[in-house]
Amino acid sequence: MRISVAIDGPAGAGKSTIAKLVGEKYNLMYINTGAMYRAVALEATENNLSPEKVDEICNLISSMEMHFEDDDLILNGENIQEKITMPRISSIVSGYASIPEVRSILVKLQRDMSSKFDVIMDGRDIGTVVLKDAKFKFFLTASPEERAERRFKELQERNLECLYEQILQDIIDRDYKDTHRAFDPLKKADDAVEIDSTNLDINGVVNTICEFIEKLK
Ligand code: C5P
Repeated sequence: MRISVAIDGPAGAGKSTIAKLVGEKYNLMYINTGAMYRAVALEATENNLSPEKVDEICNLISSMEMHFEDDDLILNGENIQEKITMPRISSIVSGYASIPEVRSILVKLQRDMSSKFDVIMDGRDIGTVVLKDAKFKFFLTASPEERAERRFKELQERNLECLYEQILQDIIDRDYKDTHRAFDPLKKADDAVEIDSTNLDINGVVNTICEFIEKLK
């Protein structure tokens, strides 16, 4: 029986940092599903496809070979991690992620990965849709201001020009779109453990998750 850990939550809640660390501890493959939606947004915009062009976008996805190497997304042989985490992609990705046909294709790819490997997956619909039967489910939250502050610091460390107010607004807009879309919106699975990380550091969250895993194992 494969082990699957699901981590959901809004933008900037620290999901990927936490998932990588918990994944290392339990020897799980980390799958960053947000990166896959970001890759679709990147490719679609590079091909001048707005979110209304559903058929063309689906065709485009069929030509995209995606896998992860050292937690980075490799698209058709190219490491695109840097490109897909640019603020430009953050501000448009939800428009593409709300397309039901796009979600169906990516959910299938994500389930295929989880059937081959023990995984820790983060995203918005992992506990509710992709890994509905996962034994370990977590829902990470933090205040929008705290999440914006973390993103701001991360972008500054990468020497990318950014404004805190702009990042906060982007996070608020993205939360709204992700929680209000018609198809598989962001919501906590009934059986997920909710962790508010506003006043916790990274180790605090990792330890809380590991304690739950040990208890439920
Ligand atoms: O996790 P990250 O912030 O990189 O995700 C980018 C966007 O991709 C989210 O704001 C959301 O619109 C979409 N997404 C999703 N379902 C997932 C993962 C991400 O809709 N499982």
